[in-house]
Amino acid sequence: MPLHIQTPLIESRPLSLTAGSAVWLKLEALQPCGSFKLRGVGQACEVHHARGARHLVSSSGGNAGLAVAYAGRQLGMAVTVVVPQTTSERARELLRLEDAKLVVHGSSWQEANAHAQTLLGPGDAFIHPFDDPLLWAGHASMVDEVAATGLKPDAVVLSVGGGGLLSGVVQGLQRNGWHDVPVLAVETEGAASLHAAMAAGHTVELPSLSSVATSLGAKRVAEQALACTREHPVHSHLVSDREALLACERLLHDHRLLVEPACGAALALLERPEALAGYGRVLVIVCGGATATLGQIRSWLG
Ligand SMILES: *Cc1c(COP(=O)(O)O)cnc(C)c1O
Repeated sequence: MPLHIQTPLIESRPLSLTAGSAVWLKLEALQPCGSFKLRGVGQACEVHHARGARHLVSSSGGNAGLAVAYAGRQLGMAVTVVVPQTTSERARELLRLEDAKLVVHGSSWQEANAHAQTLLGPGDAFIHPFDDPLLWAGHASMVDEVAATGLKPDAVVLSVGGGGLLSGVVQGLQRNGWHDVPVLAVETEGAASLHAAMAAGHTVELPSLSSVATSLGAKRVAEQALACTREHPVHSHLVSDREALLACERLLHDHRLLVEPACGAALALLERPEALAGYGRVLVIVCGGATATLGQIRSWLG
């Protein structure tokens, strides 16, 4: 039994009317730890467990760390998550609830990650948040589930941080023979590392990140994410933080689901019918995210 669950696929009447296309939502927000990350992370943790690892280490204060903590608890493995001081109280609380050992170190993710590497003993497994083939293969299962329902979308909308979700979904599309289904890859303007890589023709390191969508905050995408844009039709779209936040409020209103701005970014594209013109059926990966509270989303909206 995998650690993730099969998630519902629902047609959204209100979002379809706005988008001008039939909008289908893959509800990854309903994974037990709140995001799609459990698909790939769970698979990676199971592989390391089978190879004899007994301790998992993560340097993500976000949904990847939560997925490692959840997977470790399910597998009976010790978990250490190293996070920087900037990690929100809510995220720390969620990690503690999963019984992870929380180490707060440094003022940036880079510092926390460097410290995490020093904690790795022989036989311990480090779980990267997005740059690992084990993760991509696990994320691909969400496309298999959609294919099994008989629905073939004309386009897939998803958010991009470091590009693990993109890499997994493209793998899933290809292994189901859906080479002709384009991916609309959405980032917020302050975290547009895929957009920059596609423009430059190689991955680039953004000088800084400035977006409330912290789960999209990878300064450089995985090489595999850029490779996906060469092997599969991928169109890059940018939205503002405000558009992403409004899309979160709207999803809560329409479907009673609270997601992070990182997920709101993908949903925000539905407010732009011109971006979806020609696609009769649009599949949106509602990637979720557990670390944003409603109060925080409202205060960001101002
Ligand atoms: C991790 C995450 C993303 C981005 O995924 P990548 O694999 O880093 O591109 C988007 N939304 C949420 C909620 C996430 O947790």
